Amino acid sequence: MDADIDRILIPRDAIARRVGELARQIVDDLLQSPDPSVRKPELTIVPILTGAMIFCGDLIRQIRLPIRIGLLAVSSYPGQSVRAQGANFLGQQLGDLSGRHVLLIDDILDSGGTLRLVVPVLQSLNPASVKTCVLLRKDRQAARETPVDYVGFEIPDEFVVGYGLDYDDYYRNLPEIVTLKKSVFAAAAAPAGGTE
Ligand code: 5GP
Ligand code: MG
Repeated sequence: MDADIDRILIPRDAIARRVGELARQIVDDLLQSPDPSVRKPELTIVPILTGAMIFCGDLIRQIRLPIRIGLLAVSSYPGQSVRAQGANFLGQQLGDLSGRHVLLIDDILDSGGTLRLVVPVLQSLNPASVKTCVLLRKDRQAARETPVDYVGFEIPDEFVVGYGLDYDDYYRNLPEIVTLKKSVFAAAAAPAGGTE
């Protein structure tokens, strides 16, 4: 697995620091909200599976408020694709969101298709508020033009894996955000039985 890494874009200690900052900002914003329903501050965290799983696990352990978790599975980069194919719902287990402050969490903001698909669905479930948080935002116009409340890191418009992000469902367990060597993709593109 390590032999497939081209470059480490974000090391694990930088991720940990930034996740702590995001958690503090999310809590501060909720506590300072003028919304009268925030007298008893609580959150429902909705990570988009599978990519946001690791980020969510680290983030919520820095949030010392009562939280619930709802789950949403969306697919946009099926299998060995490295460009978004359009976001699709795969499943959900959201619970009752009515009157709840919802924080939607995704791993990366790229074309914006996922947030455009999911945010209106959450808003239709009568929550007190919906905010969005992504660990990474790619340096491309579509990403910059998509509204989002919290961004961990701005990254170049490259395909990255690690810390939850996959290629062909692998590499999610890498603790850093990395790019992969070209040979990884070339091997996948080779016809079955090829020698490269
Ligand atoms: P969007 O819907 O904004 O185009 O992309 C969001 C989803 O596409 C992410 O949740 C992620 O699953 C996938 N995605 C976008 N860019 C990358 C990338 O560089 N690497 C990986 N592994 N997935 C990506
Ligand atoms: Mg994903």
